[in-house]
Amino acid sequence: MENVIDIQHLNKSFGTHEVLKDIDFSVEKGEVVSIIGSSGSGKSTLLRCINLLEKPSGGQIIYNGENILDSKHDIFAYRQNLGMVFQQFNLFNNHNVLKNCVVGQVKVLKRSKEEAEKVALKYLDVVGMSQYVNASPKQLSGGQKQRVAIARALSMEPDVMLFDEPTSALDPEMVGEVLRVMKELAGSGLTMLIVTHEMEFAKEVSDRVVFMDKGVIAEEGPPEQIFNHPKQDRTREFLKRTL
Ligand code: ADP
Ligand code: MG
Repeated sequence: MENVIDIQHLNKSFGTHEVLKDIDFSVEKGEVVSIIGSSGSGKSTLLRCINLLEKPSGGQIIYNGENILDSKHDIFAYRQNLGMVFQQFNLFNNHNVLKNCVVGQVKVLKRSKEEAEKVALKYLDVVGMSQYVNASPKQLSGGQKQRVAIARALSMEPDVMLFDEPTSALDPEMVGEVLRVMKELAGSGLTMLIVTHEMEFAKEVSDRVVFMDKGVIAEEGPPEQIFNHPKQDRTREFLKRTL
């Protein structure tokens, strides 16, 4: 299979604090990978390094065969291939739902407003939010806001979607609707990288689960292995604490 992203020897330090230590990690086209691990283990930093919200301290990020950490590389162009969904939805409260999904397409992808609206409507439909095109984000529940945030990211038609704990800020009764949408996306062949504490969800949707511990990938494998037959003691201990 073809790797979309291939990370080699990735390091990230904040001052003297080594947060990511020699990470080797790749994602194949169409693969759904969940990243689990304790708070502080480096999951968000890994995602933020992948989309260059953080500058790695060392290593390589190979995307479509090119090392994007190479100083010659166009970081801005690279970023367009990645969609990101955060714990906090970061919607523009001064724009309605439709416009939230349109502005990036027009500004960054230079699509016409008409084209952008067509694309936005398609993805708002995918997340079940097409009746809310004229609503202000302020009128929406947390689950609805997160679904709009997902539609906004999808509207940019990225190669890979990165999710950083997309349901952690939600009231419990809203987690399900967001996970349902993500499950549908996972089934559609989208390449997804998901940091999550939702173990049942990770077990169900992932092709592969990565367990991070103290800045390293302690274990990775199919959900069956990680959740039912972990090979490492620290994976077992983490799961015992979580489940
Ligand atoms: P996780 O997402 O697994 O909870 P993070 O990647 O957010 O972990 O954080 C890993 C470690 O890096 C933590 O010890 C955190 O305090 C530290 N860290 C993260 N971001 C910064 C930053 N901008 N400056 C300094 N330390 C940071
Ligand atoms: Mg985090």
